[in-house]
Amino acid sequence: MALFDSLGRTINYLRLSVTDRCNLRCTYCMPEEGIGKVAHGEILSYEELLRIARAAVAIGIDKIRITGGEPLVRKGIIQFLHQLAEIQGLEQLVLTTNGVLLDKMAVDLRSAGVQRLNISLDSLNPATFSHISRCGDLERVLAGIEAARECGFPIKLNMVVMRGVNDHEILDFAAMATTSATTVRFIEYMPAIREHNWQRHVVPGAEILARLAERFTLIPAEQTEMAGPARNFRIPGAPGTLGVITPVSSHFCSECNRIRVTASGLAKGCLFSESLVDLKPYLLRESDQQLALALGKIVDTKPAGHQMSPQECSHQAFSMASIGG
Ligand code: SAM
Ligand code: SF4
Repeated sequence: MALFDSLGRTINYLRLSVTDRCNLRCTYCMPEEGIGKVAHGEILSYEELLRIARAAVAIGIDKIRITGGEPLVRKGIIQFLHQLAEIQGLEQLVLTTNGVLLDKMAVDLRSAGVQRLNISLDSLNPATFSHISRCGDLERVLAGIEAARECGFPIKLNMVVMRGVNDHEILDFAAMATTSATTVRFIEYMPAIREHNWQRHVVPGAEILARLAERFTLIPAEQTEMAGPARNFRIPGAPGTLGVITPVSSHFCSECNRIRVTASGLAKGCLFSESLVDLKPYLLRESDQQLALALGKIVDTKPAGHQMSPQECSHQAFSMASIGG
């Protein structure tokens, strides 16, 4: 059953956050002291998250991405994923992680039914990685990526490109796609937490592509549903692919197919919109009919787009960790 919003966009994708907590403190995502963590009692139980997932699938969602915070830090996540994977009508169960715990958990994620992983990795240099994540150990993440590869996950890496911080590594990241079956995606830095003078960090997608094209021949790849908002490219003879995601310089709002639910049950139609629906009251009822209607309302009122540009943004500051990126 296809689900459409009021502008005729197909909506089939839910990003479901299971926690706002994280074992890293990426500079672009949250302040050093972390975010004002949602009280434990406010975070939805797995049972509640499952009800939301089922209600979403009942209205036409067929892809769920589990995100956070860092989803792998929440206790019981593997059992929860097993239950999600059993939902009839859910075709894609995927997860985004910083990779820190993957060396221990990749095998269990695979057997729980997670089909694909997006792994965030912003530097191949231990000192730069530790600077960006404020505490991360690059070796551990690289070991996690290998563990995921060994147990059969296709590897997709997401690098947030920041001028003066890690943009000198663009070509090193791209080179990974020439030596292994890795999809490397470059994401424009977004002014989510509204760091002072954030504009200095934005490297527009066009510039990322120009820098890649100086070293590699880029052949536009067919746009599959799995590519999401990325514009993808092949390099002749390379086993991997490259992608560029440009939420700031070139919006993909007209093709946006997603809604979001935070770990405390706030549903949103757009990352940058301030309008949301609190799903908690609907979870107090026994039937999931009202829950499905509330999710349907988020779909119906999904904004046409956001106004962010490389020079300006007007949204309230927020941490991606609280919404799930
Ligand atoms: N902790 C997991 C991770 O880092 O992959 C999942 C949650 S994280 C909020 C989801 C995604 O949002 C990550 O790929 C992260 O790089 C991205 N993200 C967070 N803040 C961002 C920003 N200011 N600009 C661009 N991407 C951002
Ligand atoms: Fe944590 Fe992911 Fe945010 Fe980094 S981007 S602080 S890993 S939630």
